[in-house]
Amino acid sequence: MEKPKFAVLQRIINGERTYGITPRIAGGFISPDNLIKIGQVAKKYKGVLKITSGQRIAILRLKAEDVEKAWTDLGMEPGVLSTYSVKNVEMCPATFCKRMKLDSLKLGMKLEKRYYGQSAPNRTKIGVSGCRNACGSVNAKDIGVIGTFDKGFVIKAGGSAGFHPRLADVIAENLNEDGAYYMVEAIYDYYNDKAEMGLKLGDFIDQLGLSQFIEDVNEIFKKKIKEHSVDNDGILEENQ
Ligand code: SF4
Repeated sequence: MEKPKFAVLQRIINGERTYGITPRIAGGFISPDNLIKIGQVAKKYKGVLKITSGQRIAILRLKAEDVEKAWTDLGMEPGVLSTYSVKNVEMCPATFCKRMKLDSLKLGMKLEKRYYGQSAPNRTKIGVSGCRNACGSVNAKDIGVIGTFDKGFVIKAGGSAGFHPRLADVIAENLNEDGAYYMVEAIYDYYNDKAEMGLKLGDFIDQLGLSQFIEDVNEIFKKKIKEHSVDNDGILEENQ
């Protein structure tokens, strides 16, 4: 049987191939109905449920012949559409958290919609948080957005928690919500246009040099700000 679509092959045990599927759960927020549905589908096809680090719920140990049926029963979109793409936009609960400094949830959801399934030179993760606690390991994401008390939205890039851990670099500070959105867009566009396939964003920054990367990305950012007539040129008013 052909490898089923939108499923990941798991460890082969006694020659038995099983697959995991992961429905899209934007921002980690899920309706009670969808939560129940995931449970029902897992039960029907004897799957194992696992909460993932990417704020989703995976159904594991599915037989190849059940994968398509499981997707039909779920009626949900796959969390990841292809290997080389934006894998997810993780976000902290910001609006619901007493420590929040800037409400980052709306921005996070906007970024999730914008980047769902978008191709990229390598697997790319975006993280968004409402304060410097950076819950969800935003400092280890390829692109990170942090809402701060003193420096508006801070944008970081090049983080990784994988095989070659790398702390993200600060690319811009003192941005308002629109400024943060277009700065993420500028970083993504630049990386997507210029980096070789297979190159992680952090490695691309190291190859280019951080100051050159910041300079180039700022050029793209300024054009976007002008094109979209962004308030205060994307800078947080009280930080001007
Ligand atoms: S990053 Fe800050 S605002 Fe977000 S959940 Fe953590 S403590 Fe709360």
